[in-house]
Amino acid sequence: MSNGALLLCGTAPTIYSDSVERDHRDEKQFGDQLAPTQAGRRGFEMAQEYQSVNPNNGQLIQQFAVLTDVQLEAKLVAAEKTFQSWKHTSYAERAFIVAKAAELMISDVDKFAKHATMEMGKLINEARGEVKYSADILAYYATHAEAYLAPVKLAPEMGEAHMESSPMGVIFCVEPWNFPYYQLARVAGPHLMAGNTLLVKHAGCVPQCAIEFEKLWVDAGAPAGLYTNLLISHEQSNAIIDDPRIAGVALTGSVAAGKSIAARAGQNVKPTSMELGGSDAFIVFEDADLEKTIPWAVWGRMYNAGQTCCASKRFIVVEEIADRFLAKFKAALEALTPGDPMDEKTTHGPLSTEAALLQLLEQVKVAEKHGARVLTGGKRMDRAGAFMQATILTDVTPDNPAFRDEFFGPVAMFFRVKDEAEAVALANDSDFGLGGSVFTKDIERGKRVASAVDTGMMFINNIDWSDAELPFGGIKYSGYGRELGDMGIQEFVNKKLVRVHDMVAPLV
Ligand code: NAP
Repeated sequence: MSNGALLLCGTAPTIYSDSVERDHRDEKQFGDQLAPTQAGRRGFEMAQEYQSVNPNNGQLIQQFAVLTDVQLEAKLVAAEKTFQSWKHTSYAERAFIVAKAAELMISDVDKFAKHATMEMGKLINEARGEVKYSADILAYYATHAEAYLAPVKLAPEMGEAHMESSPMGVIFCVEPWNFPYYQLARVAGPHLMAGNTLLVKHAGCVPQCAIEFEKLWVDAGAPAGLYTNLLISHEQSNAIIDDPRIAGVALTGSVAAGKSIAARAGQNVKPTSMELGGSDAFIVFEDADLEKTIPWAVWGRMYNAGQTCCASKRFIVVEEIADRFLAKFKAALEALTPGDPMDEKTTHGPLSTEAALLQLLEQVKVAEKHGARVLTGGKRMDRAGAFMQATILTDVTPDNPAFRDEFFGPVAMFFRVKDEAEAVALANDSDFGLGGSVFTKDIERGKRVASAVDTGMMFINNIDWSDAELPFGGIKYSGYGRELGDMGIQEFVNKKLVRVHDMVAPLV
């Protein structure tokens, strides 16, 4: 059952103590720099409620109250109860529902896409693409789960043995707004097919997307409690993590959220997967084809208005080609067309919220204060809505706080290096380790550099991209665990050893 009917509108804002504590800690850690992805969200967090606000014009569309503890308990009970039967269903029975959900997304692409565009400002064409891709992920796991989780025969020296995979229970997922359906599909496809049930806390600014995705499961014929959207506070989220009925926790979000949620789960000895931030390098060598590379640079930085974990954020270009690259990159960014994200001609949409814009502006200000040069952009656009100019920062030195920061929006940092070794060293001089790209006509050189960069993913002559069948995830502050592909479905299953070895006990 959709919980949309249970939601009340227009209650008073709530202040959550854990958000406030987190902000203090971040201030200590990052000095006068704003903590990556967090500080600018303060305004939003201090007034946390689930709110749909159109970032194209700042208009409040709808707001939703958080669940009461009694409502939340009822949802926990339902998720646990359904797990007891769902875990015994066959893969075919699970696939029937998961594949049906995929079909329904495809048949209603526009409805889903419009909610995303209205709530977080994604360009309508990108939103349609996200909806289709989310459906692909669901369909992919409906098809492949059984093979990925089939028993694996082992070869012990004595007797026989195999590993079998079984579901773990109710998994609690905390998800971000930047891909309001894809992030949900990334957990729903694999973990439901594995036989788990899900409780999902989506981000505060995309409640309608969250509710639509929950309704999708009802429409696909899922039993109540299989997939449950939770409009809850951070305090309630902590209580859920502590609850013995929760078997595991998956987060996609910021480093600060990762530290808080992983610590909480760790205190409860519960497995977690953490998909956190990134500051991916986009390395360009002198033999790169600039005609192909520049459009990828623009797409890599500007896709989703720059609000992608694995966006290209640090452009590292060898001296020989640096001036040409920079001139073309700047011209291409300046040629984008800002406008209403519902308009298919728009190529530069707003950020997700006013708070996100204020954070980014502040980050640019701090970068400048520490010596960075704004080559283009750097300001909010002179129009309504949360629009940020496409920006290039140069002269960002290692002592500048921006050097280690994640810019979650259309702000590119540009670095000039003398050769391959310097490019690799600079790419690795990051607290993050999500993905990265290298552009060169010499594929062997591209592979060598890909191997030398410390990240979870590397792409040659392309930007970081995800596909249903390829594992996605990072190292260092970008988190741990993998989503998508075969690895993504293994995160919350019990890998049980079963051994047959009939012999007489040694002491008898
Ligand atoms: P965020 O503030 O961490 O929020 C993400 C989710 O975590 C939201 O649902 C948020 O809820 C919740 N949350 C935050 N702190 C929490 C806490 N202490 N307890 C319980 N829930 C908490 O991240 P964001 O700024 O919205 O998202 C952008 C970040 O996500 C970036 O750093 C980006 O790189 C990262 N990201 C990573 C991946 C990946 O796959 N590696 C993909 C996408 C995004 P509220 O909205 O209610 O606060």
